Amino acid sequence: MAKPLPVYPVASASGATITLADGRELTDGMASWWCAIHGYNVPELNAAISAQTSKMSHVMFGGFTHEPAVELGKRLVSITPEGLNKVFLADSGSVSVEVAMKMAVQYQHARGERGRGKLLTFRGGYHGDTTGPMSVCDPETGMHGLFNGFLPVHHFAGRPPGGFNVPLDKEYLKELAATFRLHAHECAAFICEPVVQGAGGMHFYNPGYLRAVKDLCKEYGLLLIFDEIATGFGRTGMMFAAEHAGFTPDIMCLGKALTGGYMTLAATLCTDEVAEVISQGEARVLMHGPTFMANPLACAVAVASIDLLLKSPWQERITQLSKNLSLHLRAAAQMDAVKEVRVLGGIGVVETHQAVDVAKIQAFFVKRGVWIRPFGTRIYLMPPYILSESETRKLCSAILEWVA
Ligand SMILES: *Cc1c(COP(=O)(O)O)cnc(C)c1O
Repeated sequence: MAKPLPVYPVASASGATITLADGRELTDGMASWWCAIHGYNVPELNAAISAQTSKMSHVMFGGFTHEPAVELGKRLVSITPEGLNKVFLADSGSVSVEVAMKMAVQYQHARGERGRGKLLTFRGGYHGDTTGPMSVCDPETGMHGLFNGFLPVHHFAGRPPGGFNVPLDKEYLKELAATFRLHAHECAAFICEPVVQGAGGMHFYNPGYLRAVKDLCKEYGLLLIFDEIATGFGRTGMMFAAEHAGFTPDIMCLGKALTGGYMTLAATLCTDEVAEVISQGEARVLMHGPTFMANPLACAVAVASIDLLLKSPWQERITQLSKNLSLHLRAAAQMDAVKEVRVLGGIGVVETHQAVDVAKIQAFFVKRGVWIRPFGTRIYLMPPYILSESETRKLCSAILEWVA
């Protein structure tokens, strides 16, 4: 590109520290786009990959199955909300969202419901960068304008009002119901990120809105898809954000932290009912089969990552991380440049009034020995769960220094 932003060569990473090629060490506030939940160079995960490499790195997943995929499937079924018993493995988060959308459309088709080729979603969401997911990202901050005419057109409900603990807004609930009334008959499913809209703005909302969506989906015959690619595996304080809402969606997407940040892998889970209806349809199978489906290396490291997470005091770690983020970011709320400070689980956000200059702020943070990569008006932390209190303080101090 003509004028790329500067990049920093990395030599290695270990624990919560990233070492640059010139020897400088950075405390990691990003978990590499939220996936390296155990930190880097994790002995258990290294061992799982090595062991699997010496057996086989890959075989096709058509006509074959293998232990890493079976073990991963079992673990995912056992840790996800009750009733999600079927697992489809794909290569990346975006692909798992494509698969979820196709499941929903095939499900409706198999039930003889024609003309339900659209999706319904909240504004302000982010679901990935391939065509299907892009088309349900926020219509303003997403890439709809640029790819107008190329992207399928779906329906949007307003973004749920902010605040995890803020009581439900009755007016908003009426608008939501009105959107369903208007568009639901054309839709196969409602898709959303439960409780936390991530890349669409680090926006937290009351899980009560999800219960309202669930009731509306039931009333109008839509499936409900939870995209837990960012929220899954403990980030919000629960193993899955769906647990805040207290019910099981029909379909759930997982990715990012699934392999502890080692390799690209994602999963789309669904209920027995969804799988059975699709099986009775004219296609009889889900029409998707990625070349690297259920890659054994990725599955083996995902199994090791889940085992490591379950063995660790992850809930206490998130509670502690949450307390530390609240404590050390609190002072930012008083500052003129800051609109709001919010913390939920292992996510801390300082929202500024004005969009930050990424190149400038990045250089500032690197000088202070931290790795934080904001977007727009959101300066946020989503660090590895193993972060110590002093490392958390260091990250927060750097942010305070910038916004002061
Ligand atoms: C990151 C993300 C995706 C896309 O995942 P990729 O692995 O980058 O394709 C989808 N949905 C949500 C909520 C995400 O945070």
